[in-house]
Amino acid sequence: MADIRIHVFHTGEVCVAPDLTFGGDNSNAIKASGVFGKKEDRFWLPVSAYLIEHPKGKFLVDTGWAREMSPNGEFDRKAQIRSLGTVMLYEVNQGRIGPGQCIDEQLLAMGIRDSDLDAVLLTHLDCDHANGLVQVKGAKKFLVAADEVKFAARLTNKVRYNKNWWNNIPLTAFEWNDTQGPVGRSYDLLGDCSIQLINIPGHADGLFAVRSGTQRAGLSCCSPTAVMPARAGSR
Ligand SMILES: [Zn+2]
Repeated sequence: MADIRIHVFHTGEVCVAPDLTFGGDNSNAIKASGVFGKKEDRFWLPVSAYLIEHPKGKFLVDTGWAREMSPNGEFDRKAQIRSLGTVMLYEVNQGRIGPGQCIDEQLLAMGIRDSDLDAVLLTHLDCDHANGLVQVKGAKKFLVAADEVKFAARLTNKVRYNKNWWNNIPLTAFEWNDTQGPVGRSYDLLGDCSIQLINIPGHADGLFAVRSGTQRAGLSCCSPTAVMPARAGSR
């Protein structure tokens, strides 16, 4: 198979409580929200998105922040509350995205328009992954696990998810069609095992990591937080 290339983008930053990422089994939703925690304990993390350039098409993994989060490229409380939908969600995670950092802005700098994207793959529907959907609304397809759509629709997740982020986006919800990964649920995107969306539930029911590559070319993995070359020669 011809080359598969993976591009890594930092589409702004998100400020969260330590428990949200490192709480593990000893944490809970209240601690993870950081609402009652110390503001000075919070830290900024990069918000990532990935482009897989594959012989069969261009596939974007996640979308980062929308420009409306930082209209002038700076921290903007009012704009964030508007974009996130509630003060509560703003209290849980703040974001900022500098000039030129939105995913469409970075793709355009590479000569790629949203209409060139064969599919946008949403690892899950949290704000730092789905809030930027509007930036690439011209993509040909938008894929999310059916498990994640169900999870986001739960009453108890109303504060966490805001369907306005994907209200005008024709999401396609897929059922797992393969058995890769730790819980034996995955989605073989192209039917040739070259892009596998692997369910890693916990943080969200329908969360998936992406494995792209072939044995011959070496494997590359991109997860919601990292891209890891699996061995020398990976891209
Ligand atoms: Zn998340």
